[in-house]
Amino acid sequence: MDISITINSLLTIFLYTLTFIINNINGDYMNKSIWSEYKEKIKTKQFKDNLYTDILIIGGGLAGINVAFNLNKTKYKVSLIEKDELLSGTTNYTTAKVTFLQNTVYDDIKKCHDEETSDLYLKSQLEAIKMIKNNIKNYNIDCDFQDEDSYLFTLEEKGINKIKKIIKILQNNHIKYNIIHKLPNDLKCLYGIKVANCGTFNPIKYAYGLLNNTNVDIYEHVRALKIKKEDDKYIIETDKGMITTKYIVTTTHYPFFIIPGLLPLKMHLKKSHVVASKISKPYNFNAISVDKKEISIRYYQNYLLFGGESYKMSNHIDYEKRQDELIQNFKKYFNTDINYNWSTYDLVSNDYLPIIGKIDDNHYVACAFNAWGMTNTTIAGKLISDLINKRNNKYELLFNPKREITLKRTLNFLTDNINITKIYLKTKINKNKEFYKDNVKIVNIDGKSYGIYIDDNQKEHIVRNLCPHAKCSLIFNYQDKTWDCPCHGSKYDIDGNVIKGPSVFDIKK
Ligand SMILES: Cc1cc2nc3c(=O)[nH]c(=O)nc-3n(C[C@H](O)[C@H](O)[C@H](O)COP(=O)(O)OP(=O)(O)OC[C@H]3O[C@@H](n4cnc5c(N)ncnc54)[C@H](O)[C@@H]3O)c2cc1C
Repeated sequence: MDISITINSLLTIFLYTLTFIINNINGDYMNKSIWSEYKEKIKTKQFKDNLYTDILIIGGGLAGINVAFNLNKTKYKVSLIEKDELLSGTTNYTTAKVTFLQNTVYDDIKKCHDEETSDLYLKSQLEAIKMIKNNIKNYNIDCDFQDEDSYLFTLEEKGINKIKKIIKILQNNHIKYNIIHKLPNDLKCLYGIKVANCGTFNPIKYAYGLLNNTNVDIYEHVRALKIKKEDDKYIIETDKGMITTKYIVTTTHYPFFIIPGLLPLKMHLKKSHVVASKISKPYNFNAISVDKKEISIRYYQNYLLFGGESYKMSNHIDYEKRQDELIQNFKKYFNTDINYNWSTYDLVSNDYLPIIGKIDDNHYVACAFNAWGMTNTTIAGKLISDLINKRNNKYELLFNPKREITLKRTLNFLTDNINITKIYLKTKINKNKEFYKDNVKIVNIDGKSYGIYIDDNQKEHIVRNLCPHAKCSLIFNYQDKTWDCPCHGSKYDIDGNVIKGPSVFDIKK
């Protein structure tokens, strides 16, 4: 046997194995969530030129689907448009803990408003969990729901006080809890609490379960571009034709239009990273830490979902480094391979309460779930359906988009917008050279900035380095191979086609 052929073969096998291992950690599984395995075929309609409907839901994530589900028994004709495939947005990247133990949110709301508001929010979350459980039971939804305890914990001295404040709120609301110093998977913590009656599920299977119990007309691959009001009707321009409707419900995660006095000024984006790893022994609990280096844990079948590195998107633009940090943190506690690895952002309001309600005569919006969308999209579905059907709902004022502006909200507003201005200027002045490596360049042609991505075949993909939404410059995201807007989160592929809003337009070629 020719020894050089054998060495060559062994080398090839070694290289293939190495590539496979690297891909499993950092390549093929990059930004592919565990939920992307659960697509279901659902009956959709073909969009033909123009559409007339009574209620148009824009956005087919968990929020839009909850609204459709709650409007099911009304006299109205309900249609839903989705720019891509159903459930391909943030819902596809969630960790889907169904819990009312939501980090420090009750204390944050108390600081922005008052104790009464914080208590009402807590009530709404407890009610939402009951609604989810009832839906699963009454409609026989197979979504792998696990009834679980939820844990809130800290690994740091300064986290103890944060948890004690949450304990006080739980005590005032007569909610039982236990003090803990370790999680059921043996992860030791300095201090923590656990509460009962929470859970986890497969969010995609749950959403399809709701959809299978509605008769809404669904149109995929129809993108809303503009909304115009004519008398008592709305005309929506889409990339496929016009839609005329009496009511609109916008559930596009980040609304694609400006809401004066509210959006984008009173929100920020919170980006989080997640890895999923196959394990031999799954546990029946979910947990989140209050620490700056946040840890989120849940199990799904024989996978552990470990999340963290949550930060205001305008404060960090080194996404790849953040993902690496999450992996390093994961490896500190668990010695298993990583099978899925993803990140995305959720929208956070400056008083930590979701925005659900009326923004114009017959136009409703549901967004800013502050990374607690499983319960809050459930609330949104019921609340918006009640508002359209002129029924009372005790949470109408709590989530009202036009609610009171308090001093703390104003301070948060200033901090958020200073951060966004800083990142805006940084992208303009610095050009963020440190983020552009070998295969990505920024060039100036006739005084205009362009981004160039050179692909594996050495082909250059050139885009104007300007987000059509609010004219921020773009950052190259090495994890997703996309151009991202660090101000408001729009995302474009290497040829400038818009993938994620708020922008609805491609970058000018
Ligand atoms: C990493 C991470 C972990 C999380 N973990 C939890 C958790 O454990 N528990 C919890 O309760 N919450 C969690 N959340 C929050 C929760 O996942 C989200 O709040 C929720 O999924 C948002 O649902 P949505 O329907 O508003 O948005 P999406 O799922 O993004 O749906 C919006 C849809 O609108 C479509 N769309 C956008 N623009 C247009 C347009 N112009 N025309 C037509 N369609 C359009 C999009 O394509 C998309 O499908 C987490 C979030 C993140 C990022």
